[in-house]
Amino acid sequence: MIRVIRSIDEMKQWCREQTGDGCSLGFVPTMGALHAGHRSLLERARSENDRAAASIFVNPTQYDDPEDLENYPRTFDADVEMLESAGIDALFFPSDDSIYPTDYRYRVTENQESELLEGAHRNGHFDGVLTIVLKLLLITRPTRAYFGEKDWQQYILVRDMVKAFFLDTEIIGCPTVREADGLALSSRNVHLDPEQRKIAPRFHSILSSGAEPGEQRRQLEAAGFEVDYVEKRWGRVLGAVRLGETRLIDNVPL
Ligand code: AMP
Repeated sequence: MIRVIRSIDEMKQWCREQTGDGCSLGFVPTMGALHAGHRSLLERARSENDRAAASIFVNPTQYDDPEDLENYPRTFDADVEMLESAGIDALFFPSDDSIYPTDYRYRVTENQESELLEGAHRNGHFDGVLTIVLKLLLITRPTRAYFGEKDWQQYILVRDMVKAFFLDTEIIGCPTVREADGLALSSRNVHLDPEQRKIAPRFHSILSSGAEPGEQRRQLEAAGFEVDYVEKRWGRVLGAVRLGETRLIDNVPL
């Protein structure tokens, strides 16, 4: 049986106990609504470490749109089932108040790469992400923490933050898991209606086409997407688009 831990002190103690005898701990932070993309991270954490833990916390500080936060899917029972079947030993499931006891007076700001792409379109997003990740890593102090390459900008910002603050956690990037038609798995995909779901895989195929970003933007708009950005950076092409109310992000290597 997986152990579900709500208290920060209890989670700290559980993690200390697991690693006390030199055992390794793998950690997968999530916002829940788990799918096969999360599962790949969980299985990797399970197979590469003596102990494995995950967290579910829908982090309010990384949303600039209260409606987006409100609509984020929450599927706790199914999530616990997946975590158990992936062999995860403990789930950390804290309350908002316990994670932000001083409100949001203290936060982590990166002031270069975080201002581009996602950061330019979602006000304060990466302050929220980096702050919650730092808090979770300080609570759990894992040997390794697992992040999806689907959120490439997040992955590199977390990796560099860990270096900047001398944390003893190795950040592992995991390949994007896709539907058979190429659409990157995302908790938000449940909001696509059947018509939008048909168009959605074009996002990945256009990003992978090798055309210049300006041309890709034109093709995406012609396919019915509203485009936030398509840009080459960090040896990749990264994009964010909207289909109705649903926002999708993806990236591929150049
Ligand atoms: P989230 O619950 O959306 O915050 O995601 C938790 C972790 O799962 C993040 O590190 C994501 O990058 C990763 N993730 C989400 N979707 C996928 C996917 N399709 N393939 C691989 N990793 C993913």
